[in-house]
Amino acid sequence: MLKTDRIYVAGHRGMVGSAICRALIREGFSNVVTRTHRELDLLDPKAVREFYETEKPDVAIIAAARVGGIGANSAANALFLYENEMIAMNTVWAAAEAGVKRLLFLGSTCIYPRMAPQPIPESALLTSELEKTNEGYALAKISGLKLCEFLRRDRGLCYHSLMPTNLYGPGDNYDTVNGHVLPTMIRKFETARMNGDATVPLWGSGSPLREFLHVDDLASACLFALSLDNPPDLMNVGSGEEVSIRHLAETIKSATGCTAEISWDSSKPDGTPRKLCDTSLIRSLGWRPEISLEAGIVRIVADYRRELKEGTIRL
Ligand code: GDP
Repeated sequence: MLKTDRIYVAGHRGMVGSAICRALIREGFSNVVTRTHRELDLLDPKAVREFYETEKPDVAIIAAARVGGIGANSAANALFLYENEMIAMNTVWAAAEAGVKRLLFLGSTCIYPRMAPQPIPESALLTSELEKTNEGYALAKISGLKLCEFLRRDRGLCYHSLMPTNLYGPGDNYDTVNGHVLPTMIRKFETARMNGDATVPLWGSGSPLREFLHVDDLASACLFALSLDNPPDLMNVGSGEEVSIRHLAETIKSATGCTAEISWDSSKPDGTPRKLCDTSLIRSLGWRPEISLEAGIVRIVADYRRELKEGTIRL
């Protein structure tokens, strides 16, 4: 990727897309092309095709998606499948048709089977059944990465994918029903602290194991992957730090200074029991994460308070 390349970032207003834009600008890639949802509907194949034909980007980074936590996904698998499938097919296929030379597609490690070996290597893809709570999202992301792989094989286009683990960072969605666990916990503990509540209700048993990556580390992995001449089709991106949901809750509780008791609601789902990705492939090529979970949580609590004060927070 050259500093003068025209780089289209799909989903630039989201947590991931905005982190990628910040990283691109910081590294001197000034020719970044973006479109808001209102300006370009990624569910519309004709509009997406016209966009690529007019703008002729050299590189496309697909960070647009309908995302949500376990609650949102399990309540609307059809919607998550439909919208993410359409976004993936439209943005990747039309890029190929318009002659975009390089494309990076972003997914999530929920593409892997529920009972995949841990840590999950890229080779676990499609070896057994998916986790039911987010099957729609996973199927759409698998289609997207496969389309990239097939276009590379069929047409020699350098289209490849990164699958990040659970992400968090500035601009996250703090919706306590539909959001992911980490931002939801930040909001719940902050709200309880401010209201002086006695308890904080959390979901499930607290025993599932998860891995979390700060979105600025993902952005650095994206630029790293795009700097490779012959990148692997698919690479995992994670921190390698595995924690229980219970440990996550205790860490966030102490970072916010909240003193309320945690109450676990076993009527809510635990989801997949363990989700740690094997990042030896990207690490062997030279990429490393830089933000530990502890340091990242301190940063995100400050970001949450700033976004709340500025009125820019997504709730
Ligand atoms: P997942 O990693 O794809 O399963 O999705 P999430 O980011 O929503 O994380 C879900 C895990 O966190 C499950 O084990 C939940 O039981 C647990 N969890 C605990 N409290 C909460 C909460 O308030 N919201 C969410 N989304 N998950 C929670």
